Amino acid sequence: MRVLENFVGGAWSRASGTTRLEVKNPATGESLAEVPLSTAADVDAAVKAAQAAFPGWSATPPVQRARYLFKLREIFDAHRDEIAAICTSEHGKTLSEARNDFGRGIENVEHAAGIPALLMGQGLEDVASRIDCHTIRQPLGVFAAITPFNFPPMVPLWFLPYAIATGNTFVLKPSEQVPLSQQRIFELIEQAGLPPGVVNLVHGGRDVVNAFCAHRDIAGVSFVGSSAVARHVYKSAAEAGKRVQALGGAKNFLVVMPDAERQMTVANVAESIYGCSGQRCLAGSVVVCVGDTYEAVRDGLVRHAKGIVLGDGSKPGVTMGPVISAAHRDRVLSYINQGVAEGATLLLDGRDARVEGYPDGNWVGPTVFDDVRPGMVIATEEIFGPVACLMRASDLDEAIAIANRSEYGNAASIYTSSGRAAREFQHRVGAGMVGVNIGVAAPMAFFPFGGQKGSFFGDLKAHGPTAIDFYTERKIVITRWF
Ligand code: NAD
Repeated sequence: MRVLENFVGGAWSRASGTTRLEVKNPATGESLAEVPLSTAADVDAAVKAAQAAFPGWSATPPVQRARYLFKLREIFDAHRDEIAAICTSEHGKTLSEARNDFGRGIENVEHAAGIPALLMGQGLEDVASRIDCHTIRQPLGVFAAITPFNFPPMVPLWFLPYAIATGNTFVLKPSEQVPLSQQRIFELIEQAGLPPGVVNLVHGGRDVVNAFCAHRDIAGVSFVGSSAVARHVYKSAAEAGKRVQALGGAKNFLVVMPDAERQMTVANVAESIYGCSGQRCLAGSVVVCVGDTYEAVRDGLVRHAKGIVLGDGSKPGVTMGPVISAAHRDRVLSYINQGVAEGATLLLDGRDARVEGYPDGNWVGPTVFDDVRPGMVIATEEIFGPVACLMRASDLDEAIAIANRSEYGNAASIYTSSGRAAREFQHRVGAGMVGVNIGVAAPMAFFPFGGQKGSFFGDLKAHGPTAIDFYTERKIVITRWF
């Protein structure tokens, strides 16, 4: 069995920890590799390598640093299909979903390649008579990132390109459930010829996370994952004096107004809920139908859900893959059981889904709940599976109130043909990412990305201009020449 290695100081090395986890294909159950659970000593070795690389790398002119990103972009571009296939094998999503996953990651490399312009400060002549003022941005040192299982190629690329473009050095811990995409991406990064120690990869689980949060030579930590762990990382890393941005879980509401274009809306709602088997932090979860839209949306959604082809994401014609693990399947099934116990009506039941020839896959079929009421567990907690919850609201005010009652605030969408309703919604809804006639308000590299309330801990969001703020110290220089 292949045992994954860490990438530290420009070389591949065995983790010192002896515990390993099996990485499995969630559709076939096949073992793909063993991932080591690295220790605090492994983290320390990576941080030391990153620290050693920092003086040379931070002194490298931004224009030259940008050239490495141009090179990375070309190498990544030539390996889109290979990374997509690896992503599908370890995560289960379809090949086209996996291509989009890596594609959005590459957009961040493209954006960060403009670092000479992004890094510029501001200046003002004559803040007082013959006195000028300007700002400069400087890197801080070593940054670390911790990422979740659901977008194996993309999420690490929300951080790595900006961290190194700004002159910092970087250590990544990918999800131990899906380490293979990043393993290959780091082999590709090696081909770009970055100086040793600028980027480092440490495999593992919570011990690595806790070692990052406590390490005195790490300047800042980025986290993406569930809210409970996001809160923990935010608290412990901030207590150790670090910058932190921690992106957490979600419960996303899709509001359908009576004037919404029906056919396109239903298709888009279905894609938001069932795309990537519902394992997206931007996935729609609760559909709030306003006025007389309920029956049409309900019937249309059930029709779409029945048309989904569940199976191995690497096979043509399959439109929805498995969920990540048997444990996660059991978690999703227990939410469905709970919804039934709470009195919601199960219109479409995905609990007994089977795929012929794949007895060991983690299958959950598309599921639709009717008559869901505010306060039910299925209407409040993150399920992270292919489960739709349908609710009614009498008007837009009530729909916004339902969405805003959530402890989460990652994304929310409205479907309408009214500009007034759309404006009202975007202004009042408590979510960081808002879709208008779009059910997945997807991350755009050149804009910031992140939620509100229990979906985000920190202030500077991922990528876009806020990434440059997160990864730099700003100095203000006031100058007078006698
Ligand atoms: P997770 O919280 O279980 O794991 C995320 C990372 O934290 C992993 O690298 C894992 O090794 C580590 N970790 C897990 N438990 C830990 C613990 N007790 N102490 C320290 N570290 C720990 O999340 P997941 O299941 O991998 O991913 C799914 C979650 O991520 C969902 O809640 C989803 O909404 C969220 N997510 C959020 C965004 C966003 O942008 N807000 C994006 C993607 C995923």
